Amino acid sequence: MKHFSGKTILNKIAIGPVSIYRKKKISVRREKVTDPLYERNRFELAKSQAKKQLQQLYEKTKEEVGKREAAIFEVHMMMMEDHDYHESIVNMIEKERMSADYAVAVTCDSFSKVFSEMDDEHMKSRADDMKDISERLIHILNDNHTSVASVKESVILISEDLAPSEMVQMDKSKILGLVTGYGSVNSHTSILSRTMDIPALIGIDIKEEWDGKLAILDGYTGLLTIDPDKEYLEKMKGKQEEELRKQELLKTLKGKDTVTLDGKHIKLYANIAGITDSEAARSNDAEGIGLFRSEFLYLESKTFPTESEQLHVYKSVAEKMVGKQVIIRTLDIGADKQIDYFHLDPEENPALGYRALRICLTQQEIFKTQLRAILRASAFGNISVMFPMVISLEEVRKAKEILNECKEELKQQGMEFGEIEVGVMIETPAAVMISDELAKEVDFFSIGTNDLSQYTLALDRQNPKLDPFYQADHPALLKMIQMTIENGHKSGIWVGICGELAADLDLTETFIQMGVDELSVSPAFLLPLREKIRRMNFIK
Ligand code: PEP
Ligand code: MG
Repeated sequence: MKHFSGKTILNKIAIGPVSIYRKKKISVRREKVTDPLYERNRFELAKSQAKKQLQQLYEKTKEEVGKREAAIFEVHMMMMEDHDYHESIVNMIEKERMSADYAVAVTCDSFSKVFSEMDDEHMKSRADDMKDISERLIHILNDNHTSVASVKESVILISEDLAPSEMVQMDKSKILGLVTGYGSVNSHTSILSRTMDIPALIGIDIKEEWDGKLAILDGYTGLLTIDPDKEYLEKMKGKQEEELRKQELLKTLKGKDTVTLDGKHIKLYANIAGITDSEAARSNDAEGIGLFRSEFLYLESKTFPTESEQLHVYKSVAEKMVGKQVIIRTLDIGADKQIDYFHLDPEENPALGYRALRICLTQQEIFKTQLRAILRASAFGNISVMFPMVISLEEVRKAKEILNECKEELKQQGMEFGEIEVGVMIETPAAVMISDELAKEVDFFSIGTNDLSQYTLALDRQNPKLDPFYQADHPALLKMIQMTIENGHKSGIWVGICGELAADLDLTETFIQMGVDELSVSPAFLLPLREKIRRMNFIK
């Protein structure tokens, strides 16, 4: 029995045989043909089949995941139709009498080289798309279907890397769990696995010899166990059964109030990163969205998302939540969230650097595009906005001023928007210390304990070596939370917590005693938290 540790994507356990997914490489040889007309027909047929596949992939992804995630297949269809690409392949077949496979491979090489040498990052990435569509054609020309969907039995699928297009082709019912060598927690593939409710681990050093062996994927601890011994296997089976029992029990809490036995109601909101997570928020009965990390929209995009692209996403989430509050946190990039097309300079101390509201206030066009989209989406639901990484009153006043400018512009352009609440995240010690004054400027506070711990305890949240020094209930942090809640209440505004601590069941009682009004957590934590709150009684 061996344990391997990775980053977890979903808190769930999977037990089953390993299937290592290897992308089949087809070697294409330089071959002359005797009948170019026949060869051209082969190519045209393969092309129309590829287009059909892409169309199906587009429809499937749009329906199961979202239009935005499906867009890549539209791009592939367009590239497949590209006149120059087509001409180059046909010329090689007809004039040089080359096989269709070879013509596609050579054309792919020369086109992707051109793309990869471009300065623009967005165009550069088209080189991968070029390879993707050409590989699809070559596979079809070789009658080769290497999709992951061909998995025969229920397995833990292990792959160095998995593209979103491969993920959506999977027969979900056969995939117990997923392990990849590469990937980040919020890559497309991770987002998809969460949406599909498949437990997954990333960043594991994969070994070929695991193929066919029994494995246990523990999404709670991030451990992958190969060849578990009998004792461990029994223990994990027990944990899995317990998990299922708990889930069944928790389902009975759907539709119930999040209220303590003595009648204190807590707003139980969800943290999301996009449309797909809002599905999970809804199915786990979130009473609202307390933190929409809007930067994932930027991270997933190859260039600045436009106002209408953002509007589509915000509006979809607002509509999915049918009238419930949706709090959109404005762009929070910088530090650990870097985006190429922002061209941010490298920094000595990125966590203390040019990030979040600091970027928005100095690059106001980017900020305004987002605020206009948020305002326009407010015509379709109950939308609020909040600003991250605040350290001063001036910043908040400036952000509100820009928001008002956007409202004026929209009015002049005859565009509709609704009433929106404005809040700030309290995630710096400075914001805590001036929370009495900040409270007079906004409608609510949301405490970001991830950053507040990092800045209060001087512990870089990215550095795993510091884990032993981290103390979730450090008195300094608890005092900061208490102070923020008191100052918010003195000005009559509500105060919530949206950092990871909001889901720490050991602290729920402390937070409620402090007077917290809202707790915002990942969708999977909503019902366990409701269950905990409904058992609490503060009347002694
Ligand atoms: C936080 O800092 O607690 C927070 C919720 O924001 P993020 O984790 O996105 O920085
Ligand atoms: Mg933060």
